[in-house]
Amino acid sequence: MDRDGTLAHEVGYVNHLSRFRLFPWAVDSVRLLNRAGLLAVVVTNQAGVARGYFPESLIAEVHGLMSAAMDAGGARLDGIYYCPHHPTAGEAPYRQDCDCRKPRPGLLRRAANDLGIDLARSWVVGDRDADVALARSVGARAALVKTGYGLGELLWHAPSWPQPPEVVAEHLLEAVERILADAEGAGSPA
Ligand SMILES: [Mg+2]
Ligand SMILES: [Zn+2]
Repeated sequence: MDRDGTLAHEVGYVNHLSRFRLFPWAVDSVRLLNRAGLLAVVVTNQAGVARGYFPESLIAEVHGLMSAAMDAGGARLDGIYYCPHHPTAGEAPYRQDCDCRKPRPGLLRRAANDLGIDLARSWVVGDRDADVALARSVGARAALVKTGYGLGELLWHAPSWPQPPEVVAEHLLEAVERILADAEGAGSPA
């Protein structure tokens, strides 16, 4: 799952804890994944670090807040991965043409290694064109949510997608429900 625009409101850069607001259905969505035995992993670009808008330490604080909210609601994120880089902005080491800035697959490959994930049987859920491209880059399926940038991405980018997302959903909860229904239909609950 993407973070901003998918699990939480897209507010531009989350340069202060007070700007981070989970969607009301975020905890329920993750709990559904947990109960179905699927791994729930977050992959997020945070180039605000490279741009000098906020320190990398703020990302840990935001993710601490997110994990605490999940905990409080009986949900669990199995992994949270972020890219703090930008290819042209800021200074080293954050200024770099890394392999982890979405749509490049570095974050997913790291998660797959750490958690033993079969990416070919996984889904990427996000609100951006880059999230769909990320899914394609590892042979995963893609679900686009209409929250965050989703509606605009559908309007302006969908016509150029070589392969449209397998699921287009109003929001993360609907995406998760449809992914789980698909998994059941295929007879492969995990
Ligand atoms: Mg997003
Ligand atoms: Zn990176």
